[in-house]
Parts: sequence; C-alpha cells; structure tokens
Amino acid sequence: MLSDPKKRAQYDTAGHAGVAGYSTEDLFGGIDFEDLFRGFDFGFDFGGGLFDLFSRRRRGPARGNDIEVEIAIPLEKVASGGEETVRYGRYAPCERCHGQGTADGKPPKACPACQGSGRQVTTSQKGNVSMQQISTCPVCHGSGKQIGQPCPDCGGRGEVEKIESLSVSIPVGVEDGTALRVAGRGMASPKPGGAPGDLYVVVHARPDPRFQRDGADLWRQETLPLTDAVLGTTLKVLTLEGGKADVEIPAGIQPDTVLRLRNKGLPRFGGKGKGDLYLRIKIEIPENPGREERELYERLRALAGKRRRHFWE
Ligand SMILES: [Zn+2]
Ligand SMILES: [Zn+2]
Repeated sequence: MLSDPKKRAQYDTAGHAGVAGYSTEDLFGGIDFEDLFRGFDFGFDFGGGLFDLFSRRRRGPARGNDIEVEIAIPLEKVASGGEETVRYGRYAPCERCHGQGTADGKPPKACPACQGSGRQVTTSQKGNVSMQQISTCPVCHGSGKQIGQPCPDCGGRGEVEKIESLSVSIPVGVEDGTALRVAGRGMASPKPGGAPGDLYVVVHARPDPRFQRDGADLWRQETLPLTDAVLGTTLKVLTLEGGKADVEIPAGIQPDTVLRLRNKGLPRFGGKGKGDLYLRIKIEIPENPGREERELYERLRALAGKRRRHFWE
C-alpha cells in the first residue's frame, strides 16, 4: 500500500491529524481558524477586555458550560462594525430559593429511596451467579434529593431560564462564521463559586437580495436589455455605500461577462483596503416583441443573413 504514491500521500495526511488527536473541525467546530488568528494579529479592541477572540483553554470541571449563539447582521454592519445586541437564554440559579429548589429555600433532604446516591441497585440471582444492576433512582430521577414543597418560581429545578441581552462589538469586515468570545457570559457553574462558562457569538452576514458576499468581495447580477448589450451603455449600479456608481458597458458585451468595480466591496477583516464589487452581466432577450420591434428584428435577421452570405462567397 505504501508503494502507491497516491495512497501514501493520503496516509501521511491522515496520520498527521491522528498524531495531533483532533482536527481543526473538532477544535473549532467549523470556525475558520485562519480568520480568528488574523484577528489576533491586528489586536482588535473588543471593549475593555470583556471580549476576546476564541482561544482554546482547559479549565476545572466546576466551570459552567459555554453557550453558542448565532447572529445575522446586515452587510452594512459588516462594513461599519460597531455594537450589536445579542439576546440569548441561559440558566441562572433561581433567586427565590437560592438554587435549592425548595419552597422555603433550605437545602432539600436526601431522597429516602436511594439515600441521596441517586442510584438504584437491583440484585438478581441466576443459578449461582449474583448480578447487580445499577440504574437511575426512579424516585428522585438521579438528583438524590427529596423536594417536599417545590419552589414556585423554578418548580424545584433550582434554576430558571433568563433571557440575557448583551451588546457586543462587531469588528469591521468580520468574516462569516467568526466566533467572538464573551468571557463569563455562559452557563453558571453547577458548583457554588465555580467559574461560569463563556458565550460564543458566531457572526453571519444576513442574506441580502442586493449583494452576495464572498469574503471581502460582493457580487451582484445586472440584467441588460439586448439593445444595450449590442450598442453599449452607461449603467447606474447600486453600491453598498448607498450611492450609485456609473459603469461603462462596452458595446457587444457577452452574457455572463463579469465586470469588476475596485474597492466597492467590504473592508477586509483585520487588513487594509477593501474588496471589490463584481457584476455578472445577464442579457434579456425580448419574449414578446411588439409588431414594430418584430419588423426591426426581421430586418436585422435579413441583414445578418446577407452578411453571412458575403462571408461564404
Ligand atoms: Zn426556585
Ligand atoms: Zn433517589
């Protein structure tokens, strides 16, 4: 197998990933690694150190879970950057019962069925073999607690879902799928005094009927009448800045020609300059020409036929 160069190459690649033990996909869940670290290089300010970009860390087991939320921002916001409000749900300890889940707010008693272990042990005998089966306690569902009177606010769970509202700073030109980390805004720790998790805000550009985004470049389709395609024209083209740009369409432009307008795209994320605006040209063929138009097209056909004959002769 190793003598086959193609297979060898595949093996080497997979082997390398195997040594590391995880792929980029595993670590970052499809987030573009390159983009994140490009961000680091340019030292974005995410507001008083509260925000920073994704970094891989190991922390103690008492830490709360991370939360990931996705937001979609308009292209104008990608271009300008700035504050964006993020709303998300997270569980927080119930204030009424101080997280105990009891109506009086005192720590609950141990479940009498399992003595607080949360497990049920069943012993059965098969011949001379004794078997033990361990399952979740059916009385307390594994919590090990007996809550006589549940807290009316949280129903005995000890936590309530709260809708948080948070303002995050969007970096100019943010790449699609970039995760912004907001430290300490994830789930509360399951243990008292433990650190909360982090919030990851994954930023996407909202689909836009005017422009398609490709990194810092924008794409747009422009449809020309057949006559303008043949004769050439000046086209007023919508730009993201809101104004219209004059674009010279050369006579005889072909369908699917792509024209580039330099620096009319989005600002480059963490870099200098701007992307471009690309125009893909479509040409509209008249479906129901009027009588006069038809006559003109027939004349054009006759002319084209004559030209073709001259060519052959
Ligand atoms: Zn409660
Ligand atoms: Zn129990």
